[in-house]
Amino acid sequence: MEIIILTYIFLIGLIMGSFYNVVGLRLPKKISFTSSRSQCPNCSTPLNARDLIPLFSYLLSKGKCRHCQTTISISYPLVELLTGGLFLFSYWMYGWTPAFLGACLLSSLAVMVTVSDLNYMLIPNKLLIFFAIIFIIYRSITPLDPWYASVIGALAAYALVACIIIVSKGGMGAGDMKLLAVLGILLGTKHIFLTFFFATLLGTVISLLLIMLKVIGRKDPFPFGPSIMIAALLVYFFGEEIIRYYLQSFY
Ligand SMILES: [Zn+2]
Repeated sequence: MEIIILTYIFLIGLIMGSFYNVVGLRLPKKISFTSSRSQCPNCSTPLNARDLIPLFSYLLSKGKCRHCQTTISISYPLVELLTGGLFLFSYWMYGWTPAFLGACLLSSLAVMVTVSDLNYMLIPNKLLIFFAIIFIIYRSITPLDPWYASVIGALAAYALVACIIIVSKGGMGAGDMKLLAVLGILLGTKHIFLTFFFATLLGTVISLLLIMLKVIGRKDPFPFGPSIMIAALLVYFFGEEIIRYYLQSFY
């Protein structure tokens, strides 16, 4: 039975992932993601049902448009696989519990923020407002201990990044500030600070690597959203273990 549940969760992840791809790519450009149909970016042939099966369409067509043979970006199946993988991992961690739902919501936000930030260097406000509401509802049903950790977490994250933006004159963006505030609702005070710590660490390491590999220039803007989301997932899944390990090692 377990294998059926796991397959089902993975398939749901693939389908949601292909939807998150569309949201991440269209929301910043203000294109509706429900009315207009997807089309090949090169020959504009509308995609039919056969082209829209997550992952499998890509594998069947060997990554090429069926009409003009243009190579389709590997990012589409990768984003679908990533979502499926994150949903599976969430289930493996928590089983059928409210924490599983929270992990899937956080994974969903992570995928959309990453697609949008890597493609356009921005995190859409509509996405953040939507997830702020979702997280408030989620934390009303399964509150943190104490419940107001959600409120303080959101406000503290917002204030902290606001100070950094003023001091560093643009080291982080307004989108990053709003994203961390939204994550503070879900993660609470202690875990949002841990997220911030890992995000800056990760962002610094990745940007230095990209500069060394000459992918980006020293002065180029760097999308910070994916680092924040990786840190948030890490803290959601392992925050308590990390804090316990830290306290044991240093005190
Ligand atoms: Zn085409």
